[in-house]
Amino acid sequence: MKKTPFYKDGLRFSCVRCSACCRYESGFVFLSRPDLDALSNELKMKSGDFIAAYCRWIGAPGGFSQLSLREKSNRDCVFWKDGCTVYKSRPRQCRSFPFWPSVLESPGIWENTALSCPGMGKGLLHTREDIESCLRGQLGEAVITREPSAI
Ligand code: SF4
Repeated sequence: MKKTPFYKDGLRFSCVRCSACCRYESGFVFLSRPDLDALSNELKMKSGDFIAAYCRWIGAPGGFSQLSLREKSNRDCVFWKDGCTVYKSRPRQCRSFPFWPSVLESPGIWENTALSCPGMGKGLLHTREDIESCLRGQLGEAVITREPSAI
């Protein structure tokens, strides 16, 4: 029988645009094909040129590598400049935070994540249905992955 998730009554979250999750710390922003297309279109670039300018390949198990945005030398996201400069076309990973499978694993992880995100636990109530739809969207959109032979 399927376990009832801790978020059965929904979770509150409204981003206050503090940028804490886009700056200061190293991290990966993985891109799917729709993410890459949206960002390349916004910047009017070919996707290959966009990858060369703004992306990096991150090693994954089995010798595969996955496409992520770069970050600046100060560890800010490559697109952060007084806020997100590609907000309308931001990747699904950014749009779906904090409703990530890893954050929703347990109430403890949710609460721990909320320590560094002032938008979590307040604001708009996202229902269980909203959250599960968000999770399905993430699982249905694969990260762009390069085969070991392509390296
Ligand atoms: S840390 Fe939370 S509130 Fe701040 S920008 Fe990120 S999602 Fe929004």
